[in-house]
Parts: sequence; C-alpha cells; structure tokens
Amino acid sequence: MPEGLDIQVQIQNKNEAMCCYGCQAVAQSIVNSGMDDFYKFRTRNPGKAEEIIPEFLQQLKAYDNPTVQKHFVSEEGDIREVSLILEGIVCAACIWLNENHLNALPGVFSATINYSNNRARVRWDNHQISLSEILESISRIGYLAHPYDPDQQQKLIEKERKQQIRRIGLAGVLGMQVMILAVAMYSGDWWGMDESFKQSFRWFSLIITIPILIFSSRPFFTAALRDLKNFRVGMDVPVSLGIGIAFTASVVNTINGSGEVYFDSVCMFTFFLLSARYFEMNARKRTAESTEALLNLQPAIATKLVDENGADKQHNVPVAELVVGDRVLVRPGENIPVDGTIIEGTSGINESLITGESLPLTKTKNDAVIAGSTNTESPLIIKTDKLGDDTVLASIHRLLEDAQNNKPAIAKLADQLASRFVAIILLIATGVAIYWYQTDPQQWVAITIATLVVTCPCALSLATPTAITAASGQLAKLGLLPTNSLALETLAKATDFVFDKTGTLTQGNIKLVKNITLDKDNKEQTIAIAAALESGSEHPIAKCIIQAAGNIKYSATNVINTPGSGISAIVNNTQWHLGNLNYIQSICKTPLQDSPLGKNNIENLTIVALATDEKIHALFAFDDELKDEAQPLVNALKNENKNITLMTGDHRPAALRIAKKLGINNVFSGLKPADKLRRVRDMQQNGAIVVMTGDGINDAPVLAGADISIAMGSGTQLAAANADMILLSNNIKHLYSGYRVATKTLSIIRQNLGWAFGYNLLAVPAAAMGYVDPWLAAIGMSASSLLVVLNALRLTRIQ
Ligand code: ADP
Ligand code: MG
Repeated sequence: MPEGLDIQVQIQNKNEAMCCYGCQAVAQSIVNSGMDDFYKFRTRNPGKAEEIIPEFLQQLKAYDNPTVQKHFVSEEGDIREVSLILEGIVCAACIWLNENHLNALPGVFSATINYSNNRARVRWDNHQISLSEILESISRIGYLAHPYDPDQQQKLIEKERKQQIRRIGLAGVLGMQVMILAVAMYSGDWWGMDESFKQSFRWFSLIITIPILIFSSRPFFTAALRDLKNFRVGMDVPVSLGIGIAFTASVVNTINGSGEVYFDSVCMFTFFLLSARYFEMNARKRTAESTEALLNLQPAIATKLVDENGADKQHNVPVAELVVGDRVLVRPGENIPVDGTIIEGTSGINESLITGESLPLTKTKNDAVIAGSTNTESPLIIKTDKLGDDTVLASIHRLLEDAQNNKPAIAKLADQLASRFVAIILLIATGVAIYWYQTDPQQWVAITIATLVVTCPCALSLATPTAITAASGQLAKLGLLPTNSLALETLAKATDFVFDKTGTLTQGNIKLVKNITLDKDNKEQTIAIAAALESGSEHPIAKCIIQAAGNIKYSATNVINTPGSGISAIVNNTQWHLGNLNYIQSICKTPLQDSPLGKNNIENLTIVALATDEKIHALFAFDDELKDEAQPLVNALKNENKNITLMTGDHRPAALRIAKKLGINNVFSGLKPADKLRRVRDMQQNGAIVVMTGDGINDAPVLAGADISIAMGSGTQLAAANADMILLSNNIKHLYSGYRVATKTLSIIRQNLGWAFGYNLLAVPAAAMGYVDPWLAAIGMSASSLLVVLNALRLTRIQ
C-alpha cells in the first residue's frame, strides 16, 4: 500500500484497504453488482495489481499526468476545468443523468453538457478528486468519456457515422424483402391465399427480421437497458418496448400459425428511426461546426527560435510546450500559434474566422496578433504573450460554449416536460393495451405498438437545443459573440438601440485637423505636453495626439483621468488639463475669449483644449469619419421601427453633425458616463428595452445598465469588456443581422415547440383509438423530429 493513501472498500462487512483508485473502482463495482462472493471463492491473489485493473482504467490514469493534462485542462491552483466528449448520448435524458451524476461527485463543482456536440465541461477540485476518477465514474453509469481532442472527435464521428449507415443499410435492404412479403400477405387477405403459403411467408419474414433486430435495432435496446439500470425512462424505452412487443407477438403468431404478424412494422420502424437519428446527427454536426472550426484554427506545432551561439536555430515544438516569452517564427500561410507581439516583420494578417473582419489587416513591429489568425504575406517573428486557455481564441470558445450550455427559460421548461413525457406515454400505452386487450384482442398489439412509437418525444427534446446551437453558430460567423444565454431572448425583444459615437458609429480613426495656439505658445510644445498627458490613456483621441507628437518627450505625474471629460496631470512642474471645453472651463479661471472656433471653421468638429489652472493655451480639432456600415444599419433598424439614439460625451455641434448625416433624431451630447447611464434608465422607466452599443472601455457603466450591452471589441480587449455580446467583427451592420438571428431563433423555438406539442396532442389520441397503423406511426415520428431539425437549420442562412 502506498504511503499516505487511505482508500477502502467494504467487502463482506470488512473494510479492505486498496492500493489505488483503480483497484478501488474495480472492487467497488464488484461489490455493488452483488458479486462479492468472488472474494470468498477466489483461490489465489492475482500476481500484480495491474493485472486486475482493466486496461481501460490504466489508460484513464494517464490523464492525471500533468504534462498530458496541459493539452486540455485549464487550472487555477487545484481548481481544474476540462472539456470532455461523451459517447453514448442519445437524448436529453442522458444529458440530465450525466449532469446529475457528475454534480453529485464529491469535489466536482460544476458539470454542464452541451447536447449539440456531446461535450461536457467539468470543473473540479483536484485535491478531492482526480480527472481519471471522474472519467471512470462516467463509465460506471454506462457512458464513455474522454478529454476533448479535435482529431479524436473527428475519428469518433466518422466511426459512428459508418456504423449508423451499415445499420440503416441492413434495415433498408432486408426490410424491403419483409415489406414485399407483408404486401403479399395483405393482398392475400383480400384475394384469398392458401394458408400454407401464408404460413411459409410468416416464417420467411421472421428469419429475415432477426438480423435487423440483432444488428440494426441493437442501439435502442442497449440504450433502453442502460436507462432502466439507472432507474429512469428515456426515449429508447418506449421504442424498445414497441419493437419488442411487435416482434414477440409476431413470433407467437407465426408458431401458432394464425393471426397478424408485424415483422414489417419492426423493420420499418427501425429503418425510419435510425434514418431520423442519422439526419439529426448530421444536422447537429453542421450547427456545431462553426464553433468547432474555431478550435481547429490553432496549429499544434510551432517553430520556436532558439539563440544558439548568437544565431537563431529553428525548432519544431508542440504549441503546448511553448512558454510566455518564447520567440516563434510564423511563415506566410501558417496560422499564428499564440497570442503575441510582432518583434520582426510586416505582414497581412487575416483574422476573419475569429473576428469576422474579412479583409487582412497589415500588422508590423509591436502590433499584437492573436492565435488562430493567418499570416498571409511575409514571415513574422512573434514574442509569445499568452498561451493555450489564456488566448483570445480560447476565451471566445469558452464564451460560446457557456452561451450554448445555458438554456433560455423556455428551453428549460420543454426539457422538464420531455423528461416526464416518456413516463406518461408508458402509462397511456399500458392503459391502451389493457383496454384493447379486453375489447378487441385481435387489435391490441398493433394499437399498443402504434401508441408507443408515434410519440417518441424526439421532436420535443430537439426543439430548442438545435435552434440555439444553430443561432450561436451563426452569430459567431458574423463576429457577434453572445456571452450569456439571455442575450438572444432580450435582443429579440429590444425596442431602442443606443449608440455611442466615437469608435462605434465613427471609425475611431481620429485625425488631428487643426492645432491652434492661443498665445505665443509653440505648437510643438503644446502638443508635446498634450502627448505627455495622454501617455497612459486608451482613448482614441489620446492615440491620435501621441501620434501627432511623434514621441513622448515629457513624463506626466499625478495623472487624473475623468472618463468622458479629459485628463489632468503635472508636466514639467506645472498643472495641466486636457479635455473637452466643458471640462476645461469648469477648471480654468479664464474662459475662452471671442470664440476662435467659428473663425477657424471648426465648430462642428471634436474640440479638445489644453490649459493650465490660469488660462487656455491651445485648441485641438479632430475629425473622425463615419463607418461605412453606419448608414445601412440605421436604415435597417428604422425599417424595423426601432428607436435610435445617439449618446456622446462630445459637444453638441459635433454630435449633431453625425446625427444629421445618419438621420438620427434623438441626440444627447456632452454626457459623462454617469449621465449616459441616467438617460438609459429614463428610457427603461418608460418601458423601453435598450440595446446599448459602446466601446467597452469608457462606456462600462451604461453597458452594465442597459438590457443588452454590446461592446465593440477588437479581440485584444475581449477580456476587459463585460458585455452581453461582443462585436468582434467591428462591423456594426452585423448588429442588425444579430437582431434578425435573435428574433428568428425565438420564433423557430416557438414553432418547434408548438409543432412538437401539437403533433403529440393529435397523434397520441389517434393512435390510442386505433386509427394509426404501426408503420404510419413510425413515419410520423421520424418526420416530426426531422422537421424540427430542418427548421432550426434555417437560422444558418441569415446574413
Ligand atoms: P464619446 O461619447 O464620443 O465616446 P467620450 O465619452 O469618450 O466620447 O468623451 C467625450 C469627450 O470628452 C471627448 O469628445 C473629448 O472631448 C473629451 N475626452 C474624453 N477623454 C479624453 C481624453 N483622454 N483626452 C482628451 N479628451 C478627452
Ligand atoms: Mg466613447
């Protein structure tokens, strides 16, 4: 026994110490399955511990190795998080079971499973439980889990697909023969058929159906068995019951040589249900693809540059082995492996798959690049800043998964209903069986089968997850990233769209148009002081001033930044202020005399003044172009009868100039961040549901106050913005597309649920009353699920 390890299993009322968790698991499941006599009767101990541990458990152990975990586990101390693929999930109830099972494990903080791609996210305390134990406990309830690895995922899907096709093929080809025999027998009933012929037809059908039952219908039976073992009823229970009853009754009638046989229904039902699931699997794969595509962007191997005797040597290393600070070479055509900074080279970078921005951006020394983007022109040398789960790509992916995993309220309700639905169906079917057995013993089998089959609640449990996955995939393609599950619902109901000006409606690519000195100040000197003040600011104006100054000559101390107003600091032992006129005039003792704005024809521009406590020294006038997409966006939203409001910290003339160009009538100017929030609150008081779009840096309070906040984010600021949605593409026209996706998603969810409920409301009574033949029930059930999935796929067409 290893030291410090205290794990025991109670075997025949005695606590036995175990050498490892693997042995504990094996021993415990032997005991749990009532087979602990094994310990009484065994005559000798196995030689080595490894022999008793199945190879599988040994493999699981490997996942506890820290270097192996590096590839797929993110950790903060002992708190770890992993993405797992689950095999064997067939319906919403499986998800429920696994989630509950995982959440009940000691040491597991949270476990959520995404139905559309069978991925589980599990957070646990490594002190209390290890990854291998988590994996092992999943396999104990009959599912198989392994850490997510794109290649393996691909192989698995392929394997599953091929097997599925073989099953469908067999059910189709052999089922055809059974159908022909069945048709012959039906027409024989009409036209008269020799009983001996009929009997041999029955036997033929029986023999042909057996392989279908064993090979093609097998997945239904294994899933149903697993359900029953875990004391719950999933979708496969009524399915298996239907097939089982139909087959048994037919065999009995064949042996007796009289009565109906339902071999054709068994084949048809298997064929249709398998086909429906196959289509559904493909559709689900398609909707999950756009999110999946994100993960495949990051290369596995990078070219690391190592200084050897003054010369750079290239080493090919796995990306997982890079550390912060490493220099990597990215050749043209390669994807960038890490978030980093360019230290050598200039090239076009295509970030389209991450941000939705379709044109390559030219980046050069000191520019930031993000993992997953493509280097399109010339070689670059990059210094590694962030890796693995810390990269923008990984956080985008996490946000997307979270948004998909958290279901809207309407979906949660449907899930609850679906889980009870199966139990209700079984009850109804029992009632139907008893009733018809008494009234019409000829019919009871056929009617019971039809009742069990017709309702298979696939449509109900598929109605919302498929729509939500399709929607968030589509939004991701547009570069609009929802960060929570409510975002879609609220966006669909929005009445008012509020926009910030700078950087949201305008390009934020501010240009200094005029630099006016009021006294005998030197222009260069004033701009140098301004640049010193701005040196720590992220405001677009700051960037422009620093660029105009060329370099930062002085240093600023005691910097006070007032968002929406300006900056004050001490430069060269003098107190300086830089900001809009309201701000400056509230501080500076001497007001601006005989306004130089009109004289210089700059009153419509953004004006920033530089002043000491005594007087104003300089005025800077800035211009900023409208974004090309601003006009189409405003027009499109107006067409939808949305109210559009511009809120800006800039002065009124500049705000009006922009608003007039775009045709926006509600304009609020000269607002500080808190004022913007107050305005939004006022609108909400009047019943508005407000979508606020801002730059996420100095608009944080309004963003937090709005019903839906959308932050403009060029990738790198992603973490800073705490918004409901992030517009990675910076293309504001996509806000409108996002709105359309949101409204469409809600209506598709409603249609799907309505359809699923309506179908069941009609189909159950009809089947129970004996109006639906078993084969018709099979078609109805498959068609209803298919319809729901196809309906959700319509979302992927919105541009
Ligand atoms: P907007 O609402 O257009 O995004 P802000 O709220 O960011 O504008 O700022 C409002 C005004 O305050 C700007 O037009 C500018 O005149 C002034 N201002 C804010 N921050 C700064 C800064 N760092 N440097 C200079 N001026 C600033
Ligand atoms: Mg702003």
